[in-house]
Amino acid sequence: MSADVKHIAILGATGSIGTSCLEVVRANMESMKIDVMTAHSNWQELAKFAAEFLPQTVVLTGLKEGDIPDDTFPTNVEVLFGEEALIRSVEAEQIETVITGIVGAAGLRGTWAAVCAGKRIGLANKETLVVAGEIVTEKAKETGSVLIPVDSEHSAIFQALMCGEPNEVERIILTASGGPFRTWTAEELENVTIANALDHPTWDMGPKITIDSATMMNKALEIIEARWLFDIPAEKIDVVVHPQSIVHSMVEFVDGSVMAQLSPPDMKLPIQFAITYPERISGISPKLDLTQTFSLDFQPPDLERFPSLSLGFEVAGKGGTAGVVLNAANEIAVDRFLNKQLAFTDIPRLSRSILASHHFESHPTLDQLLTLDRWARQEALRWTSLTSQPSPSLTAPRC
Ligand code: NDP
Ligand code: MG
Repeated sequence: MSADVKHIAILGATGSIGTSCLEVVRANMESMKIDVMTAHSNWQELAKFAAEFLPQTVVLTGLKEGDIPDDTFPTNVEVLFGEEALIRSVEAEQIETVITGIVGAAGLRGTWAAVCAGKRIGLANKETLVVAGEIVTEKAKETGSVLIPVDSEHSAIFQALMCGEPNEVERIILTASGGPFRTWTAEELENVTIANALDHPTWDMGPKITIDSATMMNKALEIIEARWLFDIPAEKIDVVVHPQSIVHSMVEFVDGSVMAQLSPPDMKLPIQFAITYPERISGISPKLDLTQTFSLDFQPPDLERFPSLSLGFEVAGKGGTAGVVLNAANEIAVDRFLNKQLAFTDIPRLSRSILASHHFESHPTLDQLLTLDRWARQEALRWTSLTSQPSPSLTAPRC
């Protein structure tokens, strides 16, 4: 094992973040090696990637032995099943960086295991911090685990913060593309179809985050993510709509200087930076073409048409149990919308209603958070008058 090679685990290798991460590694095979890759049930895709990258271990969290043909994976690749196997695999000593590309609160357990094991986290799974930001960041301090953001906005802020001291920060400014409905009226928003909502103007992402971007709940989750990741109060976080998605976010310092990070919208850059930080290497992400005329527009967000945003500010301000409840309600709402059982504009309505009806605790334990996650999912299902459970609820992670 060469000391110069970075050993990586990719959780959610078959997803949008996962495949972008594979592209980064493919372009840097001499300095990066994938030891672990996981998927939930898409074994065909995972097998294709395993044949190319020859990891030590693959894990299929949603399947069990016997669910896939015996000769699916190369003979020298260890094939494991279930969430416990995912946890064991990220704890492996040689793993240096864990890229958390699982979608939803289902990503919490793997991220938590990696934090407990003191790994460097390339944090894409923002829901981990929305659900348990205070507990996870405290644990990271204890174990020496470093959380490097992959979310493009937070990667930009992480980089801009290097220009000053924490006490010199006036505010952080998250940019938002505004999604596909930036210019739609409130009446038009009542008639959004699934196809409309999945048609994001600047980013190509998995379905859950694409719907979150359309409701601007994604920005709400990012406000909460920023609150914990940068240990900054909600009052010092602002959102500005920037349709071109070139300025990925900004930090304003006390003297009025605003530092921004710019690049074309492409997740390979923040993923690569999370792996190579504090170094930078030349990469395969597209570069800004300054020989062409282009403009950068900024406008204030419309909290009336996009009420999810207010939820983000409120929940970031409250902390405690608010994040887990908002996240669980939103996950159910998005799932129901994608199953044509909920109107687009009901997503924030449902989320607010469940949030308002929960019993708030300011310093919950992880177990309390997990109990509330289950409760909020059930309440959200009741709200939609359904009884089935579309997303798995969380089980207690160990550390
Ligand atoms: P995708 O839906 O594209 O991919 C999700 C991945 O997670 C797949 O590998 C999937 O496996 C796996 N998975 C799904 N459910 C489970 C589960 N219950 N347990 C374990 N693994 C599971 O999502 P994205 O890549 O778009 O998003 C991943 C995370 O990154 C999200 O938290 C998102 O908010 C964040 N993010 C994404 C960005 C993007 O550009 N896509 C940008 C910034 C942040 P399988 O294929 O087998 O179902
Ligand atoms: Mg983002």
